[in-house]
Amino acid sequence: MALLAVSLFGCTRDRDAPKEVIFFVAEPKPGFGFSQAELVLALEEADRAWRRGCSDYPLPTLRFRPSDLAEPVIRDGRNVIRAVTGRFCPDGARDTSDCYEARRAAITHSYPPLDGTRADYVSRFPEFDIELNGADFRWKELGREKLLAILVHELGHVFGLKHSCKFPECDEEASRAVMYPYPLESDRTLLLSPTRADCDALARLR
Ligand SMILES: [Zn+2]
Repeated sequence: MALLAVSLFGCTRDRDAPKEVIFFVAEPKPGFGFSQAELVLALEEADRAWRRGCSDYPLPTLRFRPSDLAEPVIRDGRNVIRAVTGRFCPDGARDTSDCYEARRAAITHSYPPLDGTRADYVSRFPEFDIELNGADFRWKELGREKLLAILVHELGHVFGLKHSCKFPECDEEASRAVMYPYPLESDRTLLLSPTRADCDALARLR
């Protein structure tokens, strides 16, 4: 789930588009249930799912590097992926009213360009930070497939996609997409790779 609308940089304007995006993956606290190495492997698998599933669309290369740093989630020029344990709140939250919605399994933050360029599909976001909710979600118990499903969804935001529909106004096709707003909804078939609807959404960003 994304806090902000995100946009594509891979397919729209190749002249400006970064060919490679490096994410720094912070080491999760033990309570998260998956190690840093397991998280990196899952991210790489989620990335491959997009390339396999939407092979007709050029996507920037994503790299996932383990980091020993705390990796704050702020606009600092570094793309960060980190698991949040304890409370699912931004850094510096004063009280629970500053925290994120507990039912969000993850949030992708995108930062518009500082030069005031409109961050729509003809522009690009220069930075993304992804936070995984390890406070309200017990990932070890949910299992690796559910982690993978949420990572595929969040990388969809990085590639520029918005949600496939506005809940609850979701038709059948939008409900089956990876970019459905609640990928881990209990009565839903878990999706581990993009559908035709997701790939078509990528095409529409051109
Ligand atoms: Zn989302």
